[in-house]
Amino acid sequence: MRLPVGPVLPYANTMADCFFCAIADGSAGVNLLVSGGGVVAFRDINPQAPTHVLVIPVAHYPDVAGLGAAEPEVLAELVRVAQQIADAEAGGEFRLVFNTGAGVGQSVFHVHGHVLAGRGFGWPPG
Ligand code: AMP
Repeated sequence: MRLPVGPVLPYANTMADCFFCAIADGSAGVNLLVSGGGVVAFRDINPQAPTHVLVIPVAHYPDVAGLGAAEPEVLAELVRVAQQIADAEAGGEFRLVFNTGAGVGQSVFHVHGHVLAGRGFGWPPG
């Protein structure tokens, strides 16, 4: 898949001990599928579907509600990028998951949308 990769813009709202902040600012050396508009996208290290991409804001927010309240335009861009990835890899169909809280499976507290695509999914989710 070839998607546009632009410069990663410097952002004030980062946390020194957050690995996803290091991915977002480029210092972790993770391959970015998309970068721009305040978000970056990269492949999940433990994929749960043929397409499993994480889309995150460059700025650090613990969860999606915090991002949406502070920077709704960046949340909208995150969703647009999710669709762009699904269009490129899976015919446009995808599941977008924001685990919010340790009790429902959140393990990294820098908000990330899981873009899951390329196979069927059951409902209700497990
Ligand atoms: P969650 O459990 O919803 O917080 O999701 C965290 C996700 O981050 C998991 O799916 C992990 O596999 C993924 N992950 C953790 N570390 C990395 C990494 N270095 N690169 C890519 N994905 C990662």
